[in-house]
Amino acid sequence: MFDGLTGKLGDVFERLKRRGALSESDVQAVMREVRVALLEADVALPVVKEFITKAGEKAVGQEVLRSVTPGQMVVKIVHDQLVEMLGAEPEPVDLNAPAPVPILMVGLQGSGKTTTTGKLARRLTQRDKKKVLMASLDVHRPAAQEQLRILGEQTGVATLPIVAGEQPVSIAKRAMTVGRLQGYDVVMLDTAGRLHVDEALMAEVASVHDLVQPHEVLLVVDAMTGQDAVNVAKAFKERVGVTGIVMTRVDGDARGGAALSMRAVTGCPIKLLGVGEKMDALEDFHPQRIAGRILG
Ligand code: GDP
Repeated sequence: MFDGLTGKLGDVFERLKRRGALSESDVQAVMREVRVALLEADVALPVVKEFITKAGEKAVGQEVLRSVTPGQMVVKIVHDQLVEMLGAEPEPVDLNAPAPVPILMVGLQGSGKTTTTGKLARRLTQRDKKKVLMASLDVHRPAAQEQLRILGEQTGVATLPIVAGEQPVSIAKRAMTVGRLQGYDVVMLDTAGRLHVDEALMAEVASVHDLVQPHEVLLVVDAMTGQDAVNVAKAFKERVGVTGIVMTRVDGDARGGAALSMRAVTGCPIKLLGVGEKMDALEDFHPQRIAGRILG
């Protein structure tokens, strides 16, 4: 992830660090190069504009221009601006609510929603020692419920027994009841995906949402789809509310534009990254660490 951006910024900053004094026009030239690098990484244009304005203002400040190491100060300003763009502080999945804590998983078909449900359930079970129940509400795609059951078997996480013909709201209600009666800490509900943002399925998610009042609504998006992922997030946020974003296929995403724009465009924090197909390929999203990775 961020291969192109890291390479580009690395070149710019390498040249910068070798220089002594910087004039205002030198700093502006650097900012133009940073702008191009961000655009080539597919960061949304308004986000790039804001980034350059804010970083540029700080970088032409007298403190930088008079400094003996102005290049390093400019690099630090760009780093800090990246951290701010990414959301500043890590925002982990929040379980601070009465048990069973309902987590609703939403997203387009093929985004990695079911896989992520399995990964997160496994992690909550193994690392955080939570008792987790998973249920698939996907009655539209044949075998979706079976896919989750198999993931549960592989990861040692309980799944709600499948009842043929049962509708999503009833499944959700049953999952919450079983969760309460059997002492589960967390109930994860994997909703049906859709190919596009589609009103009928959105309404289905909204009705489940009204019923269970989830503590977390995690939207799963495919990082490889770039700015489309950002637009999907905006649509879901407006329609059903989103408390956090999970970005998948980060392992195949060399540009990173969606990850970089997501927070600034949608206002939703990225909480987790999917970095592979295996069940342990799940990482927390740390703005500081990501900024450090980008700047090498
Ligand atoms: P859903 O339709 O949203 O439930 O999508 P699935 O969970 O069935 O995932 C679709 C495909 O994406 C599967 O082949 C997954 O193995 C794959 N996948 C999911 N997350 C990741 C990820 O983070 N990295 C990679 N490389 N593949 C992923």
